[in-house]
Amino acid sequence: MLPRSVDAVVIGSGPNGLVSAITLADAGWDVLVLEAADTFGGAVRSTEGGGWISDRFSSNYPLGVASPVLRALELEKFGLKWAHAPLPLVHLLDSDGAAAAIHPDPEDTAKSIGAEHPGDGDAWLRLYQQYVSIREPLLKALLTTWPPIGPGVKLARKLGSAGELLRFARFMAMPMHRMGQELFDGRQGPAIIAGNSLHADAPLSGAVSGTMGWLLAMLAQDVGFPVVAGGSSAFSGAMVRRAERAGALLVSGTPVTGLEVSAGRVTAVHTASGESVLVERAVVADTSAPVLYGELLPQVLIPGGLRRDLDDRFEWDYPTVKLNFRLNGPIPWLAPEARSAGVVHLGGTADELVHLSADLDTGRVPSQPFLLIGQTTKSDLTRSPDGTEAVWAYAHLPRGVADDASAEKLAGRMERAIERFAPGFGDLVIDRDLQRPSTLESGNAALGLGAVGGGTMQLHQQLIFRPTIGLGSARTFVEGLYLGSSAIHPGGGVHGACGHLAARTALRDASLLGPLTRKLPTATLRHLQR
Ligand SMILES: Cc1cc2nc3c(=O)[nH]c(=O)nc-3n(C[C@H](O)[C@H](O)[C@H](O)COP(=O)(O)OP(=O)(O)OC[C@H]3O[C@@H](n4cnc5c(N)ncnc54)[C@H](O)[C@@H]3O)c2cc1C
Repeated sequence: MLPRSVDAVVIGSGPNGLVSAITLADAGWDVLVLEAADTFGGAVRSTEGGGWISDRFSSNYPLGVASPVLRALELEKFGLKWAHAPLPLVHLLDSDGAAAAIHPDPEDTAKSIGAEHPGDGDAWLRLYQQYVSIREPLLKALLTTWPPIGPGVKLARKLGSAGELLRFARFMAMPMHRMGQELFDGRQGPAIIAGNSLHADAPLSGAVSGTMGWLLAMLAQDVGFPVVAGGSSAFSGAMVRRAERAGALLVSGTPVTGLEVSAGRVTAVHTASGESVLVERAVVADTSAPVLYGELLPQVLIPGGLRRDLDDRFEWDYPTVKLNFRLNGPIPWLAPEARSAGVVHLGGTADELVHLSADLDTGRVPSQPFLLIGQTTKSDLTRSPDGTEAVWAYAHLPRGVADDASAEKLAGRMERAIERFAPGFGDLVIDRDLQRPSTLESGNAALGLGAVGGGTMQLHQQLIFRPTIGLGSARTFVEGLYLGSSAIHPGGGVHGACGHLAARTALRDASLLGPLTRKLPTATLRHLQR
């Protein structure tokens, strides 16, 4: 039986929901987490059986290692253990074996990136040095507070002058394609940035796509692309234990079906089993924006402007098709570096990937898909029996194309692509299991149309435009109700920042200064969303 009344309900136990719950419970609040699925963790879950472990959604956690929010939780004390492959990342340029590799040592990476143009190796080292010099305020600015005034000032100081600050702002706005051209002369450097950009969905010739690729590439060099020893569920398990230690109560198998609002303030949540819980202070929704506004809130309350923004302007990121393989042995890549990489990007030059990203934006299922491949046994030997390999691969369908037939078609092309870069791959497959966009969404309602990021990461749906126009905050037009999932700034990825921001905003609003901090933004938001 659920408690009759609590200070806060967190709807959903993805990483953002769990971080919210921890932050609120650490502040002494009485917190209840209600999760629809039978297991906690959202898109941070793995399954186990017969000696095999399979990460069902997310798998590699550079953002998790680097996130100041998650680091502060000291999850290692609650059982979290990172596991690294000998090489974090290899990008395959073409099926003749050409590749670019990120090695643990930046000097070795520079050799790989400078293979065709030695100057590109030096460019890599300069790029990495600059990142290291601004890393701390940069990650804080991106992953803790919003607006990032304190970290922003520190970042400006580190950069040294107004001119450098402007140059850096310009750098961050750049499309990936232009960034690659400015930084490098050969193919390897741009390809590494392009492959990392494609972890998000900003078109490679569109604004901010460069920053997404640059940041992930720098993180790969800095902290690697680790998996979690024992599977992704061990990551969410550590967060669950941390939340329980802080005093939160977590209940799975309990979908929230509605919210009660009285005099503009959230007062209760209702569950599918017909129970209700009264809420004294706050509700944090670790759900997608369409689920919160389209399903959980009474529809008569939704302001007209917000409804139109959701119906006509809100955009999901690319639908995902994921294959999970059990293999009889390691993939026989033609490129030797790929044989010891935790993550393989397959493949193509930056120019080819610009064309692919145009296909994804114009409704064409790519004939040569770009694959993210996780060779999890390379990082963590517990993932599969001796001599075998547990491997996943995912690729994207074009925006808005999420039907099962297209997913099957893409899956076939993905397997053929691996075979081209690693002849003999097909003979190793013991079995493969396909997660289509429909499977992903039915396993987790937050993954609309199989999207991985809670909505597009393009500039027009970032910051004050995320998930729809507003103030770039977790607040909603209902007092006490906060959106705390990847639907808000800073978006997709396992970093916990969205949940942390939502919880901090809720705590501030409930403090003695609350009437001052919440009234004006809530009134402004209501005005903007009319
Ligand atoms: C295939 C795939 C691969 C990915 N790979 C990576 C990766 O390698 N590295 C990385 O950093 N990120 C990766 N991501 C992205 C990352 O997993 C997500 O950005 C992150 O999990 C978002 O966290 P969240 O807490 O906002 O939402 P989620 O993790 O989606 O959790 C939301 C939770 O809310 C629950 N919920 C929804 N509605 C209700 C309701 N009405 N009642 C109760 N519960 C509800 C859901 O069941 C779910 O458990 C990947 C995502 C996918 C789908």
